[in-house]
Amino acid sequence: MSQQLIDQYGRQIEYLRLSVTDRCDLRCHYCMPEGFKDFEEPADWLTFDEIERVIRAFAELGTRRIRITGGEPLVRKNIPELASRLSSLPGIEDLSISSNATRLQKLARPLKKAGISRINVSLDTLKADRFKEITGGGKLEKVINGLLAASEAGFQPVKINMVVMRGVNDDEVEDMVQFCIDHDFTLRFIETMPMGDTGREASQQYIPLDEIHQRLEKKYNMVKANMNGGGPARYVRVEGTELRIGYITPMSQHFCDTCNRVRLSVDGTLYLCLGQDDSYPLRDLLRSGISDDELKQHIHRAINLKPEKHEFSNNPGKLVRFMSMTGG
Ligand code: SAM
Ligand code: SF4
Repeated sequence: MSQQLIDQYGRQIEYLRLSVTDRCDLRCHYCMPEGFKDFEEPADWLTFDEIERVIRAFAELGTRRIRITGGEPLVRKNIPELASRLSSLPGIEDLSISSNATRLQKLARPLKKAGISRINVSLDTLKADRFKEITGGGKLEKVINGLLAASEAGFQPVKINMVVMRGVNDDEVEDMVQFCIDHDFTLRFIETMPMGDTGREASQQYIPLDEIHQRLEKKYNMVKANMNGGGPARYVRVEGTELRIGYITPMSQHFCDTCNRVRLSVDGTLYLCLGQDDSYPLRDLLRSGISDDELKQHIHRAINLKPEKHEFSNNPGKLVRFMSMTGG
């Protein structure tokens, strides 16, 4: 069996996004439906032992980068313990986390100590009342404290992810640029995707990021920049500062032909594409006593199912799954 994971379209899979929970302490309206309660039962969550086993198999098949995500990963207990187990696995070179930062003030240091190398934080607004509205009741102060704790713990860079929505927060783009210059954060703008009914509704406020770039160019000189991360963002640097701005454009300019990733949800389902339903359930196989070799064969079979591309733009009504189920 070939050691590398190469899909039908010749793309090598070397990046896995690991959702450790589908729960969250916020309710960003573009991500999770209001009042949603239909979460996976704890008995169906992969245990840390099961997660470690799957990630070890992926690492032996050439996966080098893991991002822990959710839902909000830090609402699951003992994530630093899991991080420490995953960062010690042979072959794993980069272990990162995406978080809303509400619990980061306490957890930044333990996560750093556990071997998390990079951190991304969602933040769409710097206005407390607007934050409350977008996140269904969240407290901005907690997130700011979490971000500062991440910097103090030595995460460098801390990346901020801002979903830019017309009439919701697009008036804050310049303020966010300044905030990131002041705090030495990296800023990434994201286009709203029609994930589930809730994402579809929000994507009515979708702004192509080219528009934002052109607006910023009137105020700042921008030069092309490189950035580590293994992701699809295209970066520029604001001249005269250290600020890097990344544009993540799944809608206006998709990056499917270089997609190097798959996603493992909390119930042990492998999702082969963020914007398609193709999936491969691993949990029952793991619990039925398969060997490590058999597990790897199943992973190869799953990778063969990876579709060529998403259809967010030409078939936006397609996907019923919403973002917090698979992890962003
Ligand atoms: N809770 C963590 C967080 O918010 O960073 C991790 C999970 S969250 C699902 C990952 C990313 O997905 C966030 O940056 C969020 O803004 C983004 N996201 C969620 N729904 C989205 C949508 N419909 N369109 C674009 N981005 C979305
Ligand atoms: Fe929670 Fe992140 Fe989704 Fe917001 S984007 S509801 S913080 S999982």
